[in-house]
Amino acid sequence: MNPDLVVLAGTVHTMDGDSAVQAVAVTDGLVTAVGSAADVQDWRAPRTEVLDLGTATLMPGLTDGHLHPVSGLQMAAGTDLSAVTDLGHLRSVLAEAARGRRPDEWVLGWGLDPNVFGRTPVAAVEVEEALGGRPALLRLFDAHGALATAAALRIAGVDGPREFDQRARVVCDADGVPTGLLLEWAAIELVAQVAPVAPVAERAAELGELLRGMAASGLTGGHVMDFIGDSAEVLAAVEAAGDLPLRLRFAPWCMPGVDDDGLAELVHLQATAGRRWQVGGVKFMVDGTIDGGTAWLAEPDAFGESTESFWPDPQAYTRAVRHLAEAGVPTATHAIGDAAVAHVVRSLAGVAGGATHRVEHLETLPGELVRRFAASGLVASMQPSHCTLYSKADHSDNWSHRLGAERADRAWRCGDLRRAGVTLALGSDWPVAPYDPRPIMADAQLRRPAGRRDSPPVQPGQALTARQALEGYTSHAAAAAGEARVAGRIAVGMRADLTALALDPLITPPDESAESPVLLTVVGGAPVHRAVTVG
Ligand SMILES: [Zn+2]
Repeated sequence: MNPDLVVLAGTVHTMDGDSAVQAVAVTDGLVTAVGSAADVQDWRAPRTEVLDLGTATLMPGLTDGHLHPVSGLQMAAGTDLSAVTDLGHLRSVLAEAARGRRPDEWVLGWGLDPNVFGRTPVAAVEVEEALGGRPALLRLFDAHGALATAAALRIAGVDGPREFDQRARVVCDADGVPTGLLLEWAAIELVAQVAPVAPVAERAAELGELLRGMAASGLTGGHVMDFIGDSAEVLAAVEAAGDLPLRLRFAPWCMPGVDDDGLAELVHLQATAGRRWQVGGVKFMVDGTIDGGTAWLAEPDAFGESTESFWPDPQAYTRAVRHLAEAGVPTATHAIGDAAVAHVVRSLAGVAGGATHRVEHLETLPGELVRRFAASGLVASMQPSHCTLYSKADHSDNWSHRLGAERADRAWRCGDLRRAGVTLALGSDWPVAPYDPRPIMADAQLRRPAGRRDSPPVQPGQALTARQALEGYTSHAAAAAGEARVAGRIAVGMRADLTALALDPLITPPDESAESPVLLTVVGGAPVHRAVTVG
């Protein structure tokens, strides 16, 4: 069999019905044998590299079910505001970022949590002085909102409300003057497209570095929930220098206002691929976010917001998603509010085409909708760290306040969805939250941030087991991409994407597992990361 690589480990979680596997052989990018340590002598050929990982635990390569590594470079350009906790702090960080810049030079920031503003409206007036009147675009952490200063709005020619095909808003005061708050993609783009963007070569270098960091955290793949702008160009520039450290699967957007040509183009795009990336699926959004007041809830939030679909005509979504599904295209729909999830379930009922369809986020669900979702056969894709990092058990955060206690108590029902039999992929939504899969799998079990034992858990009844959390990054992630027959398990014929951690995630307490050293990451049979102690 002449394997290129043999990996030995004390424990191997194949996710394929665990027998006592301790060795895995890889040939031409695929798993060609699994067996005991004693089998290795028979497999070994002169050119075989043998990596003995001692007591480590080997598992199928970890795949993030929802992230934005390419567009995220733009979304996460400039100053990281994610650690800012109050307005005074925000002003001092922005003043520091502006220091030494010309009066007309842009300041970019990202990761801004609306909780920073407390009950003060999120408006540019709060930061104008700190920025010295400079043009600035500060993205909110959820990537569905941004704050633009008066100078930035002036450059973009935005001086009042605008109309959009999609539900997006230039928020204005009583006199029709923009406050700087821009909600949803089309509104943010008005300013983003006049803000400075790093050249392709620079972003390609950043993407390479980002993906190497991801590989070092144990990730071997990701489901990328966009394919916007010059993504293909940036990917080509990285691949010109070598293989991507991660396998990436992209889902271009289908936005409100799409016509027949647009739908045909989305079908056509499905053939697009590089060596380790491909377009696979189409991404929809039927609502925005609870924090931004743009989610689609059955009943309004505490501010009377989040009552409408992102598609001004929700039936147009139904027609578009069914058209693509019937053409055999897998779809992924962002649906955060209960009404949004219910609409996706209704829209895809009984659809033909045979592809896998998934729903992203599902942040608050009543019990009957959990049952209907399970019956629909749709796949769920959730981000446990959005719950643990951005909501609080005592409901003192913006997300919980807007929803009120009853709906906040239905937060991220991962446990109930799994108990109902739903396939559940897990992910980070990077740059919305950090990408490291180890703390995310831990948070899914703890329902609080890993390592913060003093932090009360949010709805601990929704905790996943250690195995369910690992499935969310392996077998269930593969199923969510319609790849269950080629990935997500360690078995003969499967893609040789492998992750080895020093500690066994199925028996190590989650707080410790979150810091488990990553010993080896293998993509398509090639080691893309190895700890200094390995071979
Ligand atoms: Zn996302």
